[in-house]
Amino acid sequence: MNRTKPINAVIDYHIHTPLCNHAKGSMEACIKQAVSIGLLEICFLDHLTIRLEKDPKSMSPEEIPLYFNAVKALKDQYSEKIAVKAGLEVDFNPSNMTTAQKIVDTFDFDVVASSVHFLNDLDVVSHNAAAGYARMDSDDLYARYLDALYQMCRYDSFDLICHLDLVKKFGRRASRDFRAEIDAILSLIRDKGYVVEVNTSGLDHPIGEIYPSESLLKTCQEKGIPVTLSSDAHNPQSVGGHRTEGIAAVLKAGYTTLTGFSRRVAYSILIDASLEKQQTEKRSGTIDYGNPEGDLIHD
Ligand SMILES: [Zn+2]
Ligand SMILES: [Zn+2]
Repeated sequence: MNRTKPINAVIDYHIHTPLCNHAKGSMEACIKQAVSIGLLEICFLDHLTIRLEKDPKSMSPEEIPLYFNAVKALKDQYSEKIAVKAGLEVDFNPSNMTTAQKIVDTFDFDVVASSVHFLNDLDVVSHNAAAGYARMDSDDLYARYLDALYQMCRYDSFDLICHLDLVKKFGRRASRDFRAEIDAILSLIRDKGYVVEVNTSGLDHPIGEIYPSESLLKTCQEKGIPVTLSSDAHNPQSVGGHRTEGIAAVLKAGYTTLTGFSRRVAYSILIDASLEKQQTEKRSGTIDYGNPEGDLIHD
């Protein structure tokens, strides 16, 4: 489906909730923030990591009904003001894809995204882990990450690929040329019809740049891969974060549309270039976010 919507095309397709054990603020506070800054659509995309851990940084599979129903209730409650979508950010792990697939098939999600956060037991996202692999050769790290990304994109289970070059998070850069590997991944993404996420959270990480990088995003555009926009917010204040920079990056790469999802079907949303200016002028600082440790759903 290709639905075109005019102006106000600012969306945020990656918002976490306290169910993942490392995000704060109620879901309703996230929606209120989104409405206050004029977002058109937002999507809760909370973590689903299927691992045996004492201290999981994810919902458990048993919590998915609670999560799904909470988003559904808020979707109805706020339908006049904003489109609220239900999604999942699945941690790619080839050994539990059957379980993940079953969960995904049980619920009527709007979008199912996938991320490489772990390379077998090597965690590429947390600060502690970054210290642990500090002595590891950067090219080895990139080779392992890109291999996992390629394996993930071979599946047909997802709609959206999150933070494509997350491996750079702590400032590590490869010295080897990985263009051939990257080209193979992007061709696979295009052939599978996946959407790539433009995730602005990297601006707040040590690397200080958006995922994907400017050149990688340009290559995505040249290959005809659609993109969506996200903040990866782990608290209400970050909803829509760095959207001006995100839109600017998307426009610079040559895109004129973003992608939204409804019940696993992607559609195009036209970007209004004048929005860049509007959004800079329209900053809100007056919203009350409520108790950050409070109720999951409500303020
Ligand atoms: Zn997270
Ligand atoms: Zn992630």
